[in-house]
Amino acid sequence: MNIGFDLDGIFIDKLRFMPKFIVEGLYRKQNTNELTYRYPSKVEQTIRKISHKSIFRPAFEENIVFLNKLAKNNSHKRYLISGRFGFLKKETEDILKKYEITQYLDKQFLNFGNQQPHIFKDVAIKKMKIDLYVDDDLPLLEFLTDKNLKVKFFWLNNKQTKPLKNNLFAINHISEMFK
Ligand SMILES: [Mg+2]
Repeated sequence: MNIGFDLDGIFIDKLRFMPKFIVEGLYRKQNTNELTYRYPSKVEQTIRKISHKSIFRPAFEENIVFLNKLAKNNSHKRYLISGRFGFLKKETEDILKKYEITQYLDKQFLNFGNQQPHIFKDVAIKKMKIDLYVDDDLPLLEFLTDKNLKVKFFWLNNKQTKPLKNNLFAINHISEMFK
């Protein structure tokens, strides 16, 4: 199978000290019916660059170990599909190396051309014929599920474990993708 993984919230943990509503307000446009992610101003880019340094973003060890095991078994293709914008190119390449993620991947898709993240991911999922995809962003997954009915999507979260749609499942641990 072809397995797709998001980066932030899957292999890299979130900023722990920031309340969720602040983060969501920064990343996603509010008060709009359509899913839209904000492209940050220059000043905010500088702040975000700092906040994306590895000291603020711990590795999500359990999930990296899981990726490592998949790579060792070599029974699936592993693709990283991250919506991160181009101004984080250096920070992203540095952290992928530092947390030893790159070596377990067959290919990386990084949104350095600054498309809307959900559009970028939709294109990558279709192009790579992804069978299973895991992300921590529920509105983004809801967008993708309707456009890729044969793909199984997984929302990694710490609140619930249950099917949300025919092809969307809430899970607490990454291993639940293969149950
Ligand atoms: Mg994410």
